[in-house]
Amino acid sequence: MKTIGLLGGMSWESTVTYYQLLNETIKERLGGLHSAKILLYSVDFEEIEACQSSGDWDRSARILGDAALGLERAGADMILICTNTMHKVAPQIQARLHVPLLHIADATADALEKAGVSKVALLGTKYTMCQDFYKSRLIDRGFTVLIPDGTDVELVNHVIFDELCLGVLKPESKAEFLRIIGDLAAQGAQGVILGCTEIGLLISQADTDLPVFDTTLIHAKRAAELALS
Ligand code: GLU
Repeated sequence: MKTIGLLGGMSWESTVTYYQLLNETIKERLGGLHSAKILLYSVDFEEIEACQSSGDWDRSARILGDAALGLERAGADMILICTNTMHKVAPQIQARLHVPLLHIADATADALEKAGVSKVALLGTKYTMCQDFYKSRLIDRGFTVLIPDGTDVELVNHVIFDELCLGVLKPESKAEFLRIIGDLAAQGAQGVILGCTEIGLLISQADTDLPVFDTTLIHAKRAAELALS
């Protein structure tokens, strides 16, 4: 079994999910007392978020690049960045590594393709929804990506940083997310990408008829498969 290196802590609320899903998947596949071989570098998210809001992505790339290199040196066979947003600096991180970085948008695109979805709604941080680094990865693969309007971008971003990343789950926020998903479905979305690793804490497939693509689940499952391949 290969060793999975996790760049986590962004936020730790979703890193918990990664840890659980990786172990559950390996247990499911191998049975018995089997569990995933994992190395975790959990950063201080306050420091990373400060880089995001000041636009100092180079500094965040250095911090995460150092951490990823540490995981590689410790024996990780692959690296996962456990957040969609910080894939903004995935190219800089990958450039310093000799092991593969498993890109969350690529794994998600594979899942969309498999499900036959071509027009998809994307929920995530304002960086993920409004900037190009993530969407272009999907658009280049032929998908049409729909995002909420300006006010709803702010709302979703606010709920992510001020609630979900702090472990706060509010029913009224869940209702707003479902309203936004409904709006995007009415615009023709055939599925919705939960493009922030904490959204799965609030919304699941049971909440909506629209097919849900939870990036945390997709990313972790892909890593577990790769670890056994
Ligand atoms: N975990 C979130 C994501 O998947 C947001 C936290 C961050 O800004 O990294 O984008």
